[in-house]
Amino acid sequence: MTKRYWETVSDAQLLAVELTTDDPENLANLVSTVPEGASESFVEYGYDLRKSEHEKMRCTHCHQPHLAGLVINKGGLRFLVGHICGVHIYGANFAALRKDYDAAVDRQAILRRITQIRAVVDPFLEWLETFSTAEVFDRYVELKSRFRKSLPWLWDQLEWHTNNGGGRVGQTRLPKTLFDGFTDPQRGLKELAAEISKLAMLVVSKVEIDRDINSTLGRLQSLLSRIEDTIRQLQEVEQFFQPNSLAGVVSWANQRDRRRKYRAELMKITCIEGNSQTNVRVSPAYKIPDIAPIAAFRTAVSNLSDPVAQPLHSTDRSRAV
Ligand SMILES: [Zn+2]
Repeated sequence: MTKRYWETVSDAQLLAVELTTDDPENLANLVSTVPEGASESFVEYGYDLRKSEHEKMRCTHCHQPHLAGLVINKGGLRFLVGHICGVHIYGANFAALRKDYDAAVDRQAILRRITQIRAVVDPFLEWLETFSTAEVFDRYVELKSRFRKSLPWLWDQLEWHTNNGGGRVGQTRLPKTLFDGFTDPQRGLKELAAEISKLAMLVVSKVEIDRDINSTLGRLQSLLSRIEDTIRQLQEVEQFFQPNSLAGVVSWANQRDRRRKYRAELMKITCIEGNSQTNVRVSPAYKIPDIAPIAAFRTAVSNLSDPVAQPLHSTDRSRAV
């Protein structure tokens, strides 16, 4: 059997057309009698102007005035058929035309929804990919390993006080994770990124099979706060090296380490032992990426949620029938 018209239309073509019209009378090539000939016909548009002030239109077949109906395209010529008429005149054939058109309406709704979701999700996944390989992570690892190697006494103290000493030395509050000895922001982020792209694909396939996507979108949202945690972990470096915090740590260390002297400078801590000195400093390349995309994504995702979680084809069929 030959394919019905809408079955032959590609997804891309279907996305580019409208399947309803609110001005059927002004369509091009509109004729007032059913065109002769054997050309295949198909339902091109539906219209429902029953809630408008529009004047009633005449059905091409029976000339009854109506406000809801279908535009049939036959060999490029268009004519209007009232919503009650079509069924009688075309009989079984009409049911098939109608079915073809309804399937197109459903397919288009799904494609539009997926396009809408992709427009929000894809740029964010790209941002996440760029972020997860950002240079700042290398600088972070480098700084910690240099700290541990060059200032081992201080590192051990900070690690102990982070994990067991209430998160502070003297009056100075320590960063939550920087010295805990196990936090790895980049590894955490890569795991998150993998989970987020899996969820994004799941949203798309759920739209295709007509399932509620709100719970998946909700899970997506909840992962965002974990990305923010990663960013906070990176920010801990800058916070620790702020003059106030550094001064507190250095004075605390100078009172306890009998063998070395510590000095706080701008984004740098220097350790003097006998005639030698060493330091740890924050590289000027330590740049934390802009986090605005997270907030934008959060808002965009919440706008994607179905207002009422209902299957797609519960949309009002009566608009055209
Ligand atoms: Zn009619």
